[in-house]
Amino acid sequence: MTDARIRRPSLINLRREIIEGKLIDTLMRTAIEYADAARGLLILARNDEYRVEAEVTTSDDTVTVGQRQPSVTAAGLPESILRYVMRTKESVLLHDVADGNLQEREARIRRLVDSNIIGIFVWDLDDRISDANEAFLRIVGYSREDLVSGRLRWRDLTPTEWRDADDRRVAELEATGTAQPYEKEYFLKSGARVPVLVGAATFGGRHDQGMAFVVDLTERKRAEEEIRESERRYNEVQMELAHVNRVTTMGELSASIAHEVMQPIAATVNNAKAALNWLNAQPPNLEEAREALGEIVKEGNRTTDVIGRIRALIKKAPPRKDALEINGAILECIALTRGEIVKNGVSVQTQLAEGLPLIQGDRVQLQQVILNLIINAVEALSSVREGARELVITTGKGKPDGVLVVVRDSGPGLSSAGLDRIFEAFYTTKPGGLGMGLSICRTIIEAHGGRLWATAAQPQGATFQFTLPAQSNQAA
Ligand code: ADP
Repeated sequence: MTDARIRRPSLINLRREIIEGKLIDTLMRTAIEYADAARGLLILARNDEYRVEAEVTTSDDTVTVGQRQPSVTAAGLPESILRYVMRTKESVLLHDVADGNLQEREARIRRLVDSNIIGIFVWDLDDRISDANEAFLRIVGYSREDLVSGRLRWRDLTPTEWRDADDRRVAELEATGTAQPYEKEYFLKSGARVPVLVGAATFGGRHDQGMAFVVDLTERKRAEEEIRESERRYNEVQMELAHVNRVTTMGELSASIAHEVMQPIAATVNNAKAALNWLNAQPPNLEEAREALGEIVKEGNRTTDVIGRIRALIKKAPPRKDALEINGAILECIALTRGEIVKNGVSVQTQLAEGLPLIQGDRVQLQQVILNLIINAVEALSSVREGARELVITTGKGKPDGVLVVVRDSGPGLSSAGLDRIFEAFYTTKPGGLGMGLSICRTIIEAHGGRLWATAAQPQGATFQFTLPAQSNQAA
């Protein structure tokens, strides 16, 4: 009793300490006998510190009680058990206390917890979080005071839509002792959410308590989102490029057609003027007039030749043989023309049949057809002053196999004269129109072994339909 000597106690103090000493002696012996333990410690709180007041060990059937007062150290006893008992005020029974490796294991686990590489907390099924490392507190944005005060409850940290997933893990824990890692979210103290990966295991024989391991997924989610965003951008740019390509191809084609055709047309006009002059002369010069008219016929034939060559060019350029899913191709075209559609207040509806056969063809050319039909419909609809501006695109099975695509609008529709002529090259009713779109569309569809035609829609508007045969190796 070193303490007594140092403080030079009075007789009364000495007596009290002898009695206390005996009491402690008896208490300790009874305790370890009752627990059938090899070693016992009496730990008391002094000021803000826990001190080992007495230690009892049994060896060779003799019991020695020593009283000492060092601070509690990790080496002297499993610290987490002490902390747990302090907090919960419950008795804890560990079956393998006698195991000499326990302290070492305890120290290793403590190092893992304190390294704060991942968030770790101790939970129980009553919803409590009785201990947690800094990493976990950082993830959820709470302080150690929040933890100590018992305010942290894992169910409260979980947004409602994740409760079912939690319940499934709890069932798994009760059945097997571990819960496979799963992704969920926690509420931060601020009310925001944090995406996490959580795994859990129960403590040994007890299935109502255990540890949970928490990894913050914010960074990973952000990286994934960035990848998704850049993929989306990449696709968008590709689409824009494809669009520009298509537009420039059409633009170049139109320019060269215009150039090739303008020459004979200009010559025709000059010759016609000359013929008129010769006929108006007094007396009329029929010979010259005849010659000029002969030139007109020649130039006219040249124009037809030019157009024939262009169409042959499209026909001959062997279409690529992509296996194509028509619904996807249509949706892409709608996305490409979204700007025009919205600008003109048109509502687009799609009725795309499932399970259609793949078709074989040149994606760019076929999308050119679809784009052209959509743009024509939108242009027609833009003149609608009253009533809905509706565009409906339907797909279905073609006969006997293949697909049928129907593009129907509620625009002004086609006059019967128009119906006869719209597929002719250079037939246009638009001020800036070239009248080549539908002619090229028909050439493309026919080069793919299909058919393109127009009818009047009911109660108003125009319907354009085309068929395409199924890819040959899967045709029924
Ligand atoms: P462009 O669009 O340059 O006029 P097209 O060959 O694509 O050339 O179309 C020819 C003509 O067919 C158009 O000028 C228009 O009169 C008519 N047309 C095409 N689509 C429609 C439609 N959906 N509704 C009414 N008329 C149409």
